[in-house]
Amino acid sequence: KVLAVRSLLNHAVRNSVATAAAPVPIERPEILFNKVFINNEWHNAVSGKTFATVNPSTGETIAEIAEGDKKDVDKAVKAAQHAFKLGAPWRKIDASERGNLLNRLADLIERDRAYLASLETLDNGKIFTHSMYVDLELSIRCYRYYAGWADKNHGKTIPMDGNFFSYTRHEPVGVVGQIIPWNFPLLMQAWKLGPALAMGNTVVMKPAEQTPLTALYVASLIAEAGFPPGVVNIVPGLGETAGAAIAAHPHLDKVAFTGSTEVGRKIMAAAADSNLKRITLELGGKSPSIVFADSDIEQALETTHEGLFFNQGQTCCAGTRTFIEGKVYDEFVQRSAERAKTRNVGNPFDAKTTQGPQIDEQQFNKILGMIAAGKKEGATLVSGGSRVGNRGYFIAPTVFADVKDHMRIAQEEIFGPVQSLMRFDSIEELVERANNTVYGLAASVMTKDLDKALYLSTALRAGTVWVNCHNALAAQTPFGGFKQSGIGRELGEYALDAYTEVKTVIIATPHKNS
Ligand code: NAD
Repeated sequence: KVLAVRSLLNHAVRNSVATAAAPVPIERPEILFNKVFINNEWHNAVSGKTFATVNPSTGETIAEIAEGDKKDVDKAVKAAQHAFKLGAPWRKIDASERGNLLNRLADLIERDRAYLASLETLDNGKIFTHSMYVDLELSIRCYRYYAGWADKNHGKTIPMDGNFFSYTRHEPVGVVGQIIPWNFPLLMQAWKLGPALAMGNTVVMKPAEQTPLTALYVASLIAEAGFPPGVVNIVPGLGETAGAAIAAHPHLDKVAFTGSTEVGRKIMAAAADSNLKRITLELGGKSPSIVFADSDIEQALETTHEGLFFNQGQTCCAGTRTFIEGKVYDEFVQRSAERAKTRNVGNPFDAKTTQGPQIDEQQFNKILGMIAAGKKEGATLVSGGSRVGNRGYFIAPTVFADVKDHMRIAQEEIFGPVQSLMRFDSIEELVERANNTVYGLAASVMTKDLDKALYLSTALRAGTVWVNCHNALAAQTPFGGFKQSGIGRELGEYALDAYTEVKTVIIATPHKNS
């Protein structure tokens, strides 16, 4: 299992996996926070309503959570506007101090790492090893990475025509709304808060209704770290109410969203209709994983397998269309099916488990429906295909061979443990087919031929192209989609643009300044 985790991580993370002492998961972590977080304080929802967050391993309610809606979003926006006022503590501190605060937050997350990893596994169902070594590790690194940027994103002096002194300032966008999904709750929170806070914005965030627990615990750490009240406000609630209120809010300067393309479209429309707030969207994908006959087949097998099954298949950049060169197709099909059958589906807290449950009943039914569509449309089922057990939302690792481009399983996002194996015979045909989707989030290419790798890294219309790896992500490298996979980039230096406005200052002078 550690090997599988390792294959997903970059070099530096790998070292920490190798040296860390084995953590002890807490199977029943105490639920400490379940309310709306505004001005560093906890509030009931204005309506008094609550919603249940459910353990996907059992289908049982873990806790009732305050159900924020438009009224709570309004309160949170007011608090964030107040915190953003010139002269407010957040606007008076040095940029380097924003970095110190982010590092302190990372320290506190590190301090409570085993608890947070346990809470993530309980609420989301992902296996504890991944919560601990992927989600927590990458989240902590993300906060530290953006801590470093806090005092390093600056403007330019510009030699302007005429007698003027001209320079640019990189100012925060203002009060930003952030809506995050359930597949990587802590990590998506870090991707959003890191750059927003480093650049001096204030935030109203809505976690996904399926997984509010870790976001609320991190809220308590934000207060403990010493962020001034109102800088980060977290409103748990449903998409159609709290989420929609953020997208349409007239006093939010920006909305950042990660989730489905369908909802992304609504966010963009609401942003346009309300106040033309800035948007960044990180949406769905149908990413190709391409295996050439000249690749290291062992490595290609493991990379395409984990590239799809990682996180129960609930990854926006999952390799959901595995294209295999004809010469090795039959062997690859057989070995992919065998590999899928070795996955150990069960209790995500158990160290032997490699695959936990799907997030909820709705996704569980959607995935089973897609498996049924695959069978009906004539794909060959070579592994799995049904639920596991009779409690919780577990689905057997499923592999289809002979998948054709027109089939629903090759066109639509499944977001589950369903691998589609497809045959190709020439590069020209492959490029055409790999690009023949409305999405363009990511792609991976397995080959030892540098010319092929370089050609495909240009020809594939995707925001990330991996060569001989898949799902390699780090805070330093930008991530985002071409086409209907999104707008803008998260992570890396590029994400700073999404959280800053450029202001030009021009001062008349008696002499030339250029
Ligand atoms: P979703 O897009 O509905 O939810 C993502 C977030 O958006 C959640 O916080 C949700 O509450 C919020 N939301 C929902 N409707 C909204 C609205 N009208 N206005 C504002 N916010 C709204 O995703 P889902 O229903 O949880 O999952 C459905 C599909 O989305 C999945 O099958 C998968 O294809 C895709 N998905 C993609 C990602 C990703 O990382 N790209 C993450 C989760 C889900």
